[in-house]
Amino acid sequence: MNKEKLVCTNCGESYDKETKNFRCDKCGEPIELEEVKEGKISDGNPLGQTLLERYKDFYPSLSTENNFSLNEGFTSLVSVDDMAKEYGISGLFFKNETQNPTWSFKDRGTVTGVLRAMNLGYKKIGTVSTGNMATSVAAYGARAGLDTYILVKKGIAEEKLKPIAIYGAKLIEVEGDYSKLYDESLAIGHENDIYFINSDVPYRVEGYKTMAFEICEQLGFEAPDYVIVPTSAGGDIRGIEKGFREFYKLGLIDKLPKMVAVQASGCSPIYNAFREGKLEISRVADPETIAHAIENPYPPSGNQVLRMLKKNGGLALGVDDVDILKSQKKLASLGLFVQPASATSLAAVEKLYKEKLLKESDNVVCVLTGSGLKYTAALDEHDLDVYTCKLEELNDFIKKVGN
Ligand SMILES: *Cc1c(COP(=O)(O)O)cnc(C)c1O
Ligand SMILES: [Zn+2]
Repeated sequence: MNKEKLVCTNCGESYDKETKNFRCDKCGEPIELEEVKEGKISDGNPLGQTLLERYKDFYPSLSTENNFSLNEGFTSLVSVDDMAKEYGISGLFFKNETQNPTWSFKDRGTVTGVLRAMNLGYKKIGTVSTGNMATSVAAYGARAGLDTYILVKKGIAEEKLKPIAIYGAKLIEVEGDYSKLYDESLAIGHENDIYFINSDVPYRVEGYKTMAFEICEQLGFEAPDYVIVPTSAGGDIRGIEKGFREFYKLGLIDKLPKMVAVQASGCSPIYNAFREGKLEISRVADPETIAHAIENPYPPSGNQVLRMLKKNGGLALGVDDVDILKSQKKLASLGLFVQPASATSLAAVEKLYKEKLLKESDNVVCVLTGSGLKYTAALDEHDLDVYTCKLEELNDFIKKVGN
């Protein structure tokens, strides 16, 4: 088991498992861990297990001794039959990742990333982010007692900044070209012994496999037909797809779901390339969308997502802000308040339905990536009813509102 290697997702170059590289020296594309070829789900009660205990066999090269879990994962899969009927499909499910310790799926990859950093002997970790990943790394850095560096874009809203700062990380607003910060941080990390757990680094992607594992367990090992993933850097969708693939190759499920990468039309480099049949993304010049959490104009795993979709038979979609906001409201009407980026998943179902791509027998899973409370400014975009009335008039008023 210890022979596990990392391989380049593009040229196949292989790297020793001790490598500190995140990307391929030869072609610059992301490297990832080889598929796990043997293993099973651990015995025992998931209510008493951490993710890494339950899916231990799928992480042969991570030592789980330093346990600083915040009990991430094991989120619910909400089935909505009425809405499935509306779209003429067999089942529609929402994987509610807002239930994670810092309210987004990022925690699944942060825990494996931090563990990796500790296994390599690092005392310092960091990340580059403007939102959910920053909060997640700040929280786990605090929990694990590591020196934590969070690099954000200069000028992000206080609403986002303060919830990162509360965890006590070294929070640095960086002025300048934000798009250069991903590569720059990896170089600075090498020089200063800081392990940067950015959006699509190999051990972060590995952590995201657990979402696929849980979905399989929750659906009684009947893999869904489609899994729709709001996509920015591309780390999440890569990890989820890899998780399904590993379960499939081990015979735990008997088909692979088609993966759907959904982006906001105002910033859709992966969708643009997919639509034009290209295998390489181009930078989006002026990104503009309400879905800020997926607004990466030049995603570091963009090319790999395109390669993966081609092999998987999946597709990429773009949805515009009007439809994103409609979907946000529609999800809230089910009791699920998510941020605009996450609402793209339901907008994608609507689009697949309108384009008649869904079949009666299809089961569709939407990943609700993060909580609506992360971005309350988006609430200004909705017409929300709030009434006022005097206490003496309340009895009559309630009768009126009820009609
Ligand atoms: C990070 C994030 C995404 C995109 O994930 P990638 O791994 O960057 O593709 C989607 N939605 C939310 C809420 C996120 O925080
Ligand atoms: Zn390569």
